[in-house]
Amino acid sequence: DPRTKGIASTIRVVPNFPKPGIMFQDITTLLLNPPVFKDTIDLFIERYTGKGISVVAGVEARGFIFGPPIALAIGAKFIPLRKPNKLPGEVISEEYVLEYGADCLEMHVGAAQPGDHALVVDDLVATGGTLCAAIALLERAGAQVVECACVIELPELKGRERLKGKPLYILVESH
Ligand code: 5GP
Repeated sequence: DPRTKGIASTIRVVPNFPKPGIMFQDITTLLLNPPVFKDTIDLFIERYTGKGISVVAGVEARGFIFGPPIALAIGAKFIPLRKPNKLPGEVISEEYVLEYGADCLEMHVGAAQPGDHALVVDDLVATGGTLCAAIALLERAGAQVVECACVIELPELKGRERLKGKPLYILVESH
């Protein structure tokens, strides 16, 4: 799709953030360009409209930027998957290892239910550990994960292979 060119060109690469040697893909510069931000959301909406998705689960923090407009457009509920001790209600937790250490994601009990068809949204897939934890949370709640969707993939890290066989849809690759 020609729109992915604008998306790739508005993502800023910040060397040595948050650690030496990391080339951080910064999507905040994409958000500063309204037509490109709209193209990004539209590409996801076009893919997921009419597919029977009842849940969009967004991963803290940047999945909270891209997930809600998709959920609203396709008529799905939005579920925030949060870092530990942020959600006030009863939660289930999944620990995972990521590019820069270990972490954990939590989801409210009752947010996703058996019979739900879920889409997991984040800005970027690196090792796939974060999406893997997100999938596990949804499946523990009885939901079926239909697909994971990210703006950017770092294909060298082979995160795609860690997604429990779930399809991954991305808009741009970064090398
Ligand atoms: P993974 O678990 O796939 O190794 O890492 C993906 C998670 O780390 C995502 O939640 C993503 O937001 C964050 N992340 C890792 N590297 C980058 C990066 O270069 N840019 C951005 N925007 N997020 C990153």
